[in-house]
Amino acid sequence: MVTPSLYLQGKGAIYYLGQKAFQYGDKAFVIGGATALSVAGERVKKSLSSNGIDIVGWNDSVKECTHVAMNRLIEEGKHAKPHFVIGVGGGRAIDTAKGVAWKLKVPAISVGTQCATNADTSSEVVVYTEDHKYLQTLIAPTNPVLVIEDTEILAKAPVKYMVRGMGDALSCKFEGEAFAKAREKKKDGAVPTMAALALGEACFKSLMEHGLKAVKDMRNGIHSTEVEEIIEAIKLASGMAFENTGCALAHALHNGLMKTGQIKGEHGEIVAYTTIVQMVYEKRPRDEIKQVVSWCDSLGLPMRLKAFGEPSKAALRMAVEHAAEKDMDSKNMPERMKPADILDAIDKVERGI
Ligand SMILES: [Zn+2]
Repeated sequence: MVTPSLYLQGKGAIYYLGQKAFQYGDKAFVIGGATALSVAGERVKKSLSSNGIDIVGWNDSVKECTHVAMNRLIEEGKHAKPHFVIGVGGGRAIDTAKGVAWKLKVPAISVGTQCATNADTSSEVVVYTEDHKYLQTLIAPTNPVLVIEDTEILAKAPVKYMVRGMGDALSCKFEGEAFAKAREKKKDGAVPTMAALALGEACFKSLMEHGLKAVKDMRNGIHSTEVEEIIEAIKLASGMAFENTGCALAHALHNGLMKTGQIKGEHGEIVAYTTIVQMVYEKRPRDEIKQVVSWCDSLGLPMRLKAFGEPSKAALRMAVEHAAEKDMDSKNMPERMKPADILDAIDKVERGI
């Protein structure tokens, strides 16, 4: 089981950044997006300087995690010789920082500023093209050593990010369970730990119980226990659940749909939809599916494909063929998938199950 060495969450957690990072050295390379560093940059600087850490590199121009952006920053890093790289922001900035730290052979540290992603805790680096087309997922040899989630900052980010993060986090229980069944059946790799499966379950329970209240509270500027719970469910529970199990149909279909070029939407929104498709495909109990669909509805997570564009029949066929046969996550389903069965599950979701 892989995890960060230290996960620190709470109001004002960012002020512990310097104190906790110091054990890794005293030269920091800070990488983030413009918005994230305008929000959290001063606090990052203060925490580092008060612990005697020099900022030897500072880049606030990350817009996308691309090979070009990472290579440019790796070159900067080779001259600056940092002892660690700190990624500040959402998935794009944090993945870029993890990729740069990996190539510079120094630890990565994550400081989250919004909830759309669980990249902060994970070792995955998701690489895109300049125009935000998915390219590949690389796995860094280690997770970020330190993850700071200052909930004062996260709770003030736009609510839509938390909704998207919940949509993505919804998948981890169902994909993790499929993954575990696949490994038991195929005996072609290690079965996941009980801990990883329990995290997926805990994440799901937290989303169902606290998700709506957390969103409502965030909209009203109330920093409640539910807001804290959901941040943990997204950042820690879903991050470590998915990374220590694997993705399955939900993400394979997401990837297939994106490949058609006829689908537009945020990752978490599409994954919430494809998670329902996976549940229907697996013939899970109707009540369980209905509970999740109505939860998605009340959060405003779209439950119809037309919300993401209207893919042609041929495009949809291409998407399900990719999901069933070509996507690397397809091997994590217990049985070989049939494209026609996925199409059938989509059809049922479209008709309101
Ligand atoms: Zn995802």
